[in-house]
Amino acid sequence: MSERCEIAIIGSGFAGSLMARVLATIGYDVVLLERGTHPRFAIGESSTPLANLSLERLAVRYNLPDCYRLATHGRWLEHYPELRRGLKRGFTFYRHHPGESAVDRRLVEERLLVAASPNDAVADTHWLRADVDHHFVREAAASGVDYRDHVDLTDADIDDAGVTLRGVRNGVPLELRAEFVIDATGPGGSLARRLAIPSAIERTETRSAVVFSHFDGVQLMREVVADLPDGPYPDDWAAVHHLIDEGWMYSLRFDHGVTSAGFALTPLAMSTLAPAGEVQPEALWRALLDRYPVIRALFGDARPLMPLVYRDGIQHRLARAAGRRWLLMPHAFAFVDPLFSTGIAWSLRAVERLGLLFEQAKAGARVPDVGQLERYETLLAAEADQIDRLVAGAYEAMAHFDLFAAHAMIYFASVSYAEVRQRLTAGDGAHHAWSGFLGIGDPVLEPLARESLERLRRITRRALNTGTRDDRRGYTAWVREAIVRRNIGGFGDPARNNLYPVDMDLLVDRHALLGLTREQVVAGLPALRGMAPEPAFG
Ligand SMILES: Cc1cc2nc3c(=O)[nH]c(=O)nc-3n(C[C@H](O)[C@H](O)[C@H](O)COP(=O)(O)OP(=O)(O)OC[C@H]3O[C@@H](n4cnc5c(N)ncnc54)[C@H](O)[C@@H]3O)c2cc1C
Repeated sequence: MSERCEIAIIGSGFAGSLMARVLATIGYDVVLLERGTHPRFAIGESSTPLANLSLERLAVRYNLPDCYRLATHGRWLEHYPELRRGLKRGFTFYRHHPGESAVDRRLVEERLLVAASPNDAVADTHWLRADVDHHFVREAAASGVDYRDHVDLTDADIDDAGVTLRGVRNGVPLELRAEFVIDATGPGGSLARRLAIPSAIERTETRSAVVFSHFDGVQLMREVVADLPDGPYPDDWAAVHHLIDEGWMYSLRFDHGVTSAGFALTPLAMSTLAPAGEVQPEALWRALLDRYPVIRALFGDARPLMPLVYRDGIQHRLARAAGRRWLLMPHAFAFVDPLFSTGIAWSLRAVERLGLLFEQAKAGARVPDVGQLERYETLLAAEADQIDRLVAGAYEAMAHFDLFAAHAMIYFASVSYAEVRQRLTAGDGAHHAWSGFLGIGDPVLEPLARESLERLRRITRRALNTGTRDDRRGYTAWVREAIVRRNIGGFGDPARNNLYPVDMDLLVDRHALLGLTREQVVAGLPALRGMAPEPAFG
């Protein structure tokens, strides 16, 4: 005998659990199936303003106060101090050169800081995923989701009326008949494998490998580099990016002193770092620290809290994201690279979109029709391409800091414009949920990632050539001009010296770019400063 439910969701990362909870809140009968159990380690920790906006909209629409309270560092600390997190004030970048130590002042010149929030209270966070995902799965269960862990799925059959999932739980066979199935298994790709959805990895330009762990005892940048000039926020309380010849390193500091860190490395770098193809993560880590003295000073005495993990070819991309009776959440559909921290925001945007689709479907067929699923799939595919082009451009630009700092302005102009528009023109949120991620659908922003990648490749010739000074100046001038109609943050202004605070005065001055009057922007400033009162939750 099959058990029955309306919606089966496979995978209980935050995306699967939140999706399950939203659907249960709307009135669906949902089963959430997890291969492992919580709490458990997960990678993908650095949140962004767009992610937090999605959390806030989900909170308001579905009466989920915890989502609202987890959307800023200040509220999180006040309401959920037991869930570990890190303060993230912005995006910090340094360019390191082999053998150069802190006394070499090049690091100070090749430094880019972009504030994402005006103060700690409204700042973003790094999520300690073991705690956060556990929280969301508990809340899903409390909302009526039937959560089952330790499930080993072996089979999925889809027909016109629904899907049958088969597997084993704790040695006992399981058969579940659902009207619709959502795959939230990330790169595990459970459903994709059972449905034999073809790979479309050839659409993805980026290729990288990662080596990572959690550490304690990581030094602060200020402890290693004397007289680091003040930036718009303390450098370390951010998503810190160390750009190196081989790729880049992320470093995310949690409030309790643990740091999540990893190198993302290009295939070219791996071909010299591990020419025989056999990778010893510890030896790889040590070799990279030895090459870059400042990174060695930061991490040399740090202790990994779990064995270093090495993963080759972290990119994945499928040819389909949805079909009759099934769909994939973003991380099950595609992943590019940790650069620019796109994963959490993109996943939460999808939870919003799907909540809206199921709300519409509820009164009728109960599941979204093929046309609605196509809309979801088409947008996801365009966004996956856009993330990839931006990241691929960034890897080209890593050849020279000037190129990188200029290319990054396209990302920052896109996300800050979207964030401020979403904050100042709230509405019922549906419009923002369906707006394209990273400029998709915006006639000014959408073409820029592709054009930037092409221009960069003309300079680097795909061999990390740094080009001439004129090449770099020409590219930088092009970026400044290209973003001008969306540039509400003063990005690319040489007078800023690569240090970008949140500049409310400039924002007010540039109100027309947002299609708003000066008075409308001024009226919205309390919301931007996080001073708006908490919505009423039932
Ligand atoms: C190295 C690295 C760094 C990253 N850094 C960032 C970052 O800083 N910021 C950011 O926004 N994004 C980042 N990402 C992306 C981020 O990890 C994802 O966007 C995010 O984890 C997506 O969440 P999810 O819930 O969809 O999937 P996941 O977190 O992958 O969760 C999937 C869940 O499904 C379960 N599962 C898997 N297979 C099965 C199965 N067969 N049956 C049942 N359950 C199954 C897993 O156990 C897990 O609980 C990073 C990714 C990588 C690889």
